[in-house]
This record gives sequence, structure tokens and C-alpha cells, in this order.
Amino acid sequence: MRVCKGCLIRDIDYKKEYQNMYDYINGLDEEIKTDESVYKMRLQTCKDCDALINGMCKYCGCFVEMRAAISHNSCPYKKW
Ligand code: SF4
Repeated sequence: MRVCKGCLIRDIDYKKEYQNMYDYINGLDEEIKTDESVYKMRLQTCKDCDALINGMCKYCGCFVEMRAAISHNSCPYKKW
């Protein structure tokens, strides 16, 4: 029997999912990881942006903390 473990938002263990996201960011290779000062600037820009909703950008659908963590990524509206 196939069991879907995450189809409904109400079924998501957010604490575990968010920890997975931070583990992913912390595990990125240094060559692709955004410099810490640039990362902070990117996240501050997102925090000040009307497109940020619950940690996600409404234009690209990404969790901005993950998107901003990779140096070659960019804001879809070129804010960073
Ligand atoms: S990625 Fe760009 S458009 Fe999206 S929330 Fe951040 S600054 Fe705003």
C-alpha cells in the first residue's frame, strides 16, 4: 500500500521540515554557498519586501532562505 505522508498542509511536521531546510543550507558546498554578509543582506531585503509570505516569495515560490543561500541565485525581481 502506498502512503502519502505530506499531501495536506495540516499533516506537515513543520518543525521537522524547517530543520531539514536548515540542514540543507548548512550542508551546501562552500563553493556555491553565499557569503554570510551577502546572505544577511539578501534576507533583509526579502524581509522588507511585500512579496514575502510565510518565508516564501510569492513570485518564485521558493523559501527565500534556501534560494538566497546559493550564490548564483537571484531575486526574480532583481532586488538582490
Ligand atoms: S526574492 Fe525578491 S521578490 Fe521575492 S521576497 Fe525576496 S526580495 Fe521580494
